[in-house]
Amino acid sequence: DPNSGNSIRRRFLEFFAARDHKVLPSSSLVPDDPTVLLTIAGMLQFKPIFLGQVPRRVPRATTAQKCIRTNDVENVGRTARHHTMFIMCGNFSFGDYFKKDAIAWAWELSTKEFGLPADRLWISVYKDDDEAFALWHDEVGVPVERIKRMGEEDNFWSSGVTGPCGPCSEIYYDFHPERGCLDVDLGDDTRFLEFYNLVFMQYNRTEDGSLEPLKQKNIDTGLGLERLACILQKVPNNYETDLIYPIIEKASELANVSYSVADESTKTKLKIIGDHMRAVVYLISDGVVPSNIGRGYVVRRLIRRTVRTGRLLGIKGDGKGNLEGAFLPVIAQKVIDLSYEIDPDMRGQAPRILEELKREELRFVQTLERGEKLLDQKLKEALSNGSTNGCTPCLSGKDAFLLYDTYGFPVEITVEVAQELGIQVEMNEFDVEMENQRQQSQSAHNTVRLAVGNDADLAETIPETEFLGYETLSARAKVEG
Ligand code: ATP
Ligand code: MG
Ligand code: MG
Ligand code: MG
Repeated sequence: DPNSGNSIRRRFLEFFAARDHKVLPSSSLVPDDPTVLLTIAGMLQFKPIFLGQVPRRVPRATTAQKCIRTNDVENVGRTARHHTMFIMCGNFSFGDYFKKDAIAWAWELSTKEFGLPADRLWISVYKDDDEAFALWHDEVGVPVERIKRMGEEDNFWSSGVTGPCGPCSEIYYDFHPERGCLDVDLGDDTRFLEFYNLVFMQYNRTEDGSLEPLKQKNIDTGLGLERLACILQKVPNNYETDLIYPIIEKASELANVSYSVADESTKTKLKIIGDHMRAVVYLISDGVVPSNIGRGYVVRRLIRRTVRTGRLLGIKGDGKGNLEGAFLPVIAQKVIDLSYEIDPDMRGQAPRILEELKREELRFVQTLERGEKLLDQKLKEALSNGSTNGCTPCLSGKDAFLLYDTYGFPVEITVEVAQELGIQVEMNEFDVEMENQRQQSQSAHNTVRLAVGNDADLAETIPETEFLGYETLSARAKVEG
């Protein structure tokens, strides 16, 4: 099938190989770059070349890069287009071709190679980029009504607070005929889907925020594989493409529900499981193990959220009758099976990945079961207090801390469960309790400098002190004693 996820990936790489691009492998999700926690885009492995720090080995390259964006975790299941982990196909020029060819090839790829109807494509350019506007209009022939000038937020791309950056131009697919929505707002994904970004990489943003021109003008592009698959496979969202749906089917089977007839909230939960398991399996495969800091904490949080989501769907034990078992490995196996072309090394890692997941899940389930009774009781109290006083039900920070400190119950789980019932957790009070404990224990916890840029919002929620929540009490005692 020429429109299967794997075929689309291959066709993209072959299109650019035929235009003298060297096909290079995806780099690891763990970047060789201290300014970002995880690989967020295809350009990351080429950053030193863009900056002129190392010489280019080829003038043009093309890749299908595994990416993780923790800033999109909250979007998972809510939008049709965001994943935690996705594949970004890209073509790159290192001081070789620039806007004219990048635009012409992007158009040819979209309309000829993938056969997208020209009148379904809309273009955005950076507000003052008259050159890009003219190329789209005069050379390619896109009518002016379908080229939109947009600002910094959408059309000036940078990989982080500092580093290579530049104005960009993006291609959107218009679903108007299928979905009937008439509003022209490229940011609204009920009608439009951004799928291809062409970055005209020509500046370096320095520490003081100023833009200095790079020695060479470069091209850096990113096309979301899952998004193009969504368009070509004519499914309502990325999750229903052949890249992800089999994982969701496996989860539905374990939960004994059917995705196609499920209600929205069940579908969202199944999407979360499909998304998070994919991210987690690829991360562990690239050497990240669950822990309390940095990348390890990203994995741990995604795992916990998956386990809890599975329990909400009624998955018990391994989902196949063994109540002492773990269900993550069953779903992970599906991710591994699907990874074959994207990441040929994954299979060799399978036993380690499955073992890691099993251990982490069983440990977390123990924690959950210990804390759940007390949490239920506190939440009931909060609800009845709220309705007696006519105010928003609140769980005190002291109670959240008690759950954390005595039962090892992760506070983000407390917050999530509370939110589902419309209960607020007094986080300021929780933070005060944490701080008191930290000062009392006087132990030399290491603080870790966490990521900037795309990972900053996640990093904020990672406690600065080592997270001891679900370790055994004796481990706590050791640190504090
Ligand atoms: P969006 O506006 O939809 O969040 P973006 O502008 O943040 O996307 P870019 O940084 O331009 O995305 O990345 C290049 C391409 O990678 C996008 O056009 C899209 O096809 C894909 N992409 C980006 N983020 C995601 C994601 N979280 N899940 C799936 N694909 C993504
Ligand atoms: Mg985004
Ligand atoms: Mg965008
Ligand atoms: Mg974009």
